[in-house]
Amino acid sequence: FDDRDGFIWLDGQLVPWRDARVHVLTHALHYASCVFEGERVYGGTVFKLTEHSERLEKSGKILGFDLPYDVQAIDDATRAVVEANGIVDGYVRPLAWRGSEMMGVAAQANKIHVAIACWLWPSYFSPEAKLKGLRLTIADWKRPAPDTAPTASKAAGLYMICTLSKHKAEAAGYDDALMFDYRGQVAEATGANIFFVKDGQLHTPKPDCFLDGITRRTVIDLARQHRIDVIERAIQPGELEGFEQAFLTGTAAEVTPLSEIGPYNFEVGTITKTLMTAYDDLVRGRVRE
Ligand code: PMP
Repeated sequence: FDDRDGFIWLDGQLVPWRDARVHVLTHALHYASCVFEGERVYGGTVFKLTEHSERLEKSGKILGFDLPYDVQAIDDATRAVVEANGIVDGYVRPLAWRGSEMMGVAAQANKIHVAIACWLWPSYFSPEAKLKGLRLTIADWKRPAPDTAPTASKAAGLYMICTLSKHKAEAAGYDDALMFDYRGQVAEATGANIFFVKDGQLHTPKPDCFLDGITRRTVIDLARQHRIDVIERAIQPGELEGFEQAFLTGTAAEVTPLSEIGPYNFEVGTITKTLMTAYDDLVRGRVRE
């Protein structure tokens, strides 16, 4: 991914893609002092750009660092890098991390770097999987408690167990994995939130130890506009059997139906399809918020 044409915004400037490099003694590489975002460009516009820039700032604060750019500057830089790369439909990856001035666990003096990259990326899951529904297995790893890790931050370190879980799922022929939390309750997939449908109502876990996704909140709003009840609550693994439909939400995943979680099957039903269409119409600007 590093050897290609294009530009990456790095510490205030657009630099050629191949020149956006860091030193091996970068604190973030050793100790995961890094936060990031994932954004989507639809028709040349980043969906909910300012919310993402604000979350990047907040994620950094939770890890104890302030970004050297304010939200407005990050928004402007994002637009500039999207335009410089001519991205009409794609993905944006902003990140902020501690640099290489000090080496050791403590690194208060390290410079905070910020980069924003973007690329063409039509779909996270294959269009076929999106029609038929994804197959999920259950992850071995549990989402940590909020007093075990900074779970409200979109921090790189929290993704170690996501990569392990996703690799194991893919090696076994699944699309992704459902993760439970430290209490054993249903949490989320490795990079997306989860919803279930039963008796015409939506059920989704409370995001008290994992990311409260921007897509999750958007889909809750859309459901309410469609007069679909949304219940945010603790969901036990034993309930999976009784749900009729299930889907994932995320910037990359958008609204993606599930056909299986472990031994349980789900249909790609009307409520799921209604929300897939409503989300698509919203992000592509066919309807206003
Ligand atoms: N959970 C995790 C672990 C994620 O990586 C993501 C993607 N950012 C989400 C949930 C969904 O968040 P959003 O809708 O803001 O993309």
